Amino acid sequence: MKYLKEVYNDFKVVPFKKFLTFLFFLTCILGYVIMATFPYFASQIIKYATELNETAYTYTLYLTIAYIIYEVIWYFNYYIYSLLQTYYSDTIHKKLFNKICTSSRKISKTLDNGKMLSLVGDDIPSFCYMLDSITVYLSTIFMIILTVSLIFRAHFIFAIITVISLVIYLVFMTKTMNKFSKYLKEQKKHNDTINSTYVEELNALKEIKTLPIKDNLLRKLETKLKRYSRSYFKKRKYFARNENTSTLIPQYTKVILYLVLLIFMVKLNATIDLVILIIGYYDQLIENLTELVGSYREIKEYHVSVKRVNEALTYEDDLSNLFGKYENDEIYGSIVFKNVSYKYNSKYILDNLNLEIKPNTLNVIIGPSGSGKTTLFDLLLRFYKIDSGEIFLDGVNIYEYSDSIYASNITLVKQNPFIYNMSIRENLRLVNSNKKRGEEAIKEVGLHEFIMSLPKGYSTVLTQNATNISGGQKQLLSIARSLLTDAEILLMDDITASLDPKTTNQIIDLLVRLKEDHTILVITNREDLITKADKIIYLNKGKAKSYKSLSELKEKLDPESEVLM
Ligand code: ADP
Ligand code: MG
Repeated sequence: MKYLKEVYNDFKVVPFKKFLTFLFFLTCILGYVIMATFPYFASQIIKYATELNETAYTYTLYLTIAYIIYEVIWYFNYYIYSLLQTYYSDTIHKKLFNKICTSSRKISKTLDNGKMLSLVGDDIPSFCYMLDSITVYLSTIFMIILTVSLIFRAHFIFAIITVISLVIYLVFMTKTMNKFSKYLKEQKKHNDTINSTYVEELNALKEIKTLPIKDNLLRKLETKLKRYSRSYFKKRKYFARNENTSTLIPQYTKVILYLVLLIFMVKLNATIDLVILIIGYYDQLIENLTELVGSYREIKEYHVSVKRVNEALTYEDDLSNLFGKYENDEIYGSIVFKNVSYKYNSKYILDNLNLEIKPNTLNVIIGPSGSGKTTLFDLLLRFYKIDSGEIFLDGVNIYEYSDSIYASNITLVKQNPFIYNMSIRENLRLVNSNKKRGEEAIKEVGLHEFIMSLPKGYSTVLTQNATNISGGQKQLLSIARSLLTDAEILLMDDITASLDPKTTNQIIDLLVRLKEDHTILVITNREDLITKADKIIYLNKGKAKSYKSLSELKEKLDPESEVLM
């Protein structure tokens, strides 16, 4: 019972459907109770038949009706189960999806790709299986008590034999069960790492083909497979023990019971209907016991899954202090960093950094690699919280803005943007459903002609990670996407790094135009872009220095300790 309570607590991560669960339980118990009448009717039919009494026909009718009711009840039970199954599956999927979207990037440590796959594939469906197993478990306990007391009513000595075999049986069972669930948990963990191998393989297909790493990767997979089989075999060992005891003990007791019944029939003239009744009940008891053990094992098994889902859904990160309630949507776009410090582990990336950015300006951030340029963006996007100091947007501390207001006013274009495996139109509509706005944004970045030249135009489906358009076009598309967000502040992380000069020039012209109504921060090392900037921010050793022009920057750099980029 204590264990069931623990299960219930893990289960509650999704709102509990009281009424449906009650109906489910009720139909299950009713089904079992009806089943318990079968041996009674059967024995009565035999009893009256041997006496050549016509009441036997009446009992035949009763038995037929009982069978029909039995079927109808299970039909409802299955129907309710389907309702519950879809409820749990839908609810958990939506919760998990939201959880991942609203989590900080740290969640990837708790939920890597491999684990994600088995969570969705195996663990979510287990939620409802679990409910089924618990219901069967409780119903069979009820039925065992009922059947045993019925056997007591029929015959005392048989009942005693039954109870003794029952106790031996249950003691054996529980011992093997705990070991079983321990190794199951291990097995699942190894399965996660195997899954992640495949995710990596898909993502790094190019690397696998261009570097001689295939055999090494395969060897790594083999190690993982070995670990998996080890825990699998251990689990199966206890499963087999469990399975064997669950059939052997009742079978032997049944042999003993037959012997005793035989003795009673010969010596004490026990009637044939009593024998049928006892054997009928005993068969049911065995069936119930097998179900009891089976369902208990399933509870243990599914509990591992329920726990994993629960862990994912209740995963807490320190995001709560990243969001506030400030709802002002009139953003001009002035950004101020005041004595901002931020460290990874114990290494300071930003150290008492001060920086001021005016609205509607183009600002370029440069600095050696590892100097914290990307980190600066991550902080501005509120992915992490700074350790000390303050960052202001329009004079208000950024952590005071509400989640939605802040997110809608600041956006990021990455060097390797992710384009969804949908048509160009759908990719745009994900961000903004207005078709005209989508095309305007595409025209703005100068991609319209190209798209119209494609046989299917805007309906062209971009393949996974968009390999059917060039890197530059993908970059332009991602800029168009960010323009559709209506964000005032555009952050661009090294977007021109791998572009051809023509596309780069196109982007530079675009940025100059966009600064009319946007505040733009660009990380870049392109001199032609740097020269267009209103302000050049040089990041090094945790500090930021601002310059008006590239020549001023070059003049003032300390050649001993400061490299340009
Ligand atoms: P840049 O973009 O200027 O090349 P980053 O901002 O990406 O530099 O990184 C700045 C420093 O922070 C680097 O030294 C890097 O090793 C470190 N760093 C970045 N991300 C993490 C992380 N998740 N955990 C620990 N250190 C990190
Ligand atoms: Mg970077």
